[in-house]
Amino acid sequence: MTAREPDPDAPFEAVLLVPGHAPPVETVTEVDDDRALVEGVGCKNDHFNDPSARYCHLCGIGMVQGTLVTRLGPRPPLGLLLCDDGATYRLDADYVLGRNPERHPFVAAGTARPLRLLDPDGSMSRQHCRISLVGWAVHVVDLASANGTYVTLPGSAPFRAVPGEPIVLRPGTRITVGERWVRYESHREGN
Ligand SMILES: [Zn+2]
Repeated sequence: MTAREPDPDAPFEAVLLVPGHAPPVETVTEVDDDRALVEGVGCKNDHFNDPSARYCHLCGIGMVQGTLVTRLGPRPPLGLLLCDDGATYRLDADYVLGRNPERHPFVAAGTARPLRLLDPDGSMSRQHCRISLVGWAVHVVDLASANGTYVTLPGSAPFRAVPGEPIVLRPGTRITVGERWVRYESHREGN
């Protein structure tokens, strides 16, 4: 697969979902940020994987546990956020969601991207919640929003996130902010 360099100046990268064409999940990015390095293992084809994965996220080959040595490497995208309007945002960085996320300190510092959502009924906070990549996990943290961040894990009822307390997302988890939602999509196994 050809390496694909995201534009570092772009506020976010949107990828159209085309049936039969999964968004590219392999990147070779210059890593100048320690937080983007994670402990991982290579499959037989040397694709970099979550050590807990049973199958390679790129080629699907079984990972033979016990013979794998972890190494530090750049974290591949952990999936994407699918928005209710069909837009997708690749999870190769943290995001701050809200109706005016640009002023969040992490966005201002360049450590998170703004994901601005139109807010038809005014129920969304300016900086409503943050999506964080932590190792191989994806977290959501409510940013003390006025009306709360609601999390629907697959097969479960929605619940309101406690402000400031991270929740680990599983693939298929829906995050509702005001009248809007985004869903965490990943080919990786849930954990
Ligand atoms: Zn592989």
